[in-house]
Amino acid sequence: MNNQTQNPYYNRTDTTTLHVSDAEWKKILPPEVYQIAREKGTEWAFTGKYYKTDERGDYYCAVCGNHLFRSDAKFASSCGWPSFFETVRPNSATYISDHSHGMSRIEVKCSRCGSHLGHIFDDGPAPTHKRFCMNSAVLDFVPIK
Ligand code: FE
Repeated sequence: MNNQTQNPYYNRTDTTTLHVSDAEWKKILPPEVYQIAREKGTEWAFTGKYYKTDERGDYYCAVCGNHLFRSDAKFASSCGWPSFFETVRPNSATYISDHSHGMSRIEVKCSRCGSHLGHIFDDGPAPTHKRFCMNSAVLDFVPIK
């Protein structure tokens, strides 16, 4: 989702933490982005726009533009969501214990805007053995030309 034009907070180089209310985000974000980013929704497996993408490029937070992943860290996962083994910077994302839906998981949030991105699991490939299981709707992909 490329919504920079209506979103005054979207910036791919500014890493300053944002403090924006959900009421404000609701006015700015497309409904499907708001529902995942601000209400911890999950898109259906095998439906998102990036789960099969293997082009070279960069993935940014679709809410705020924070640089999250490089395509070098994306791997072909059978789970149906775009999967990465590491973030661009150690502090690109923040991690929170999530006990919702009767499961014990670790939620991944954008460290700039606090939006929900997905969850992280310990079954990824080397070198990190992590799997960032992300929702396509909250990612913006910019291919390297
Ligand atoms: Fe963000």
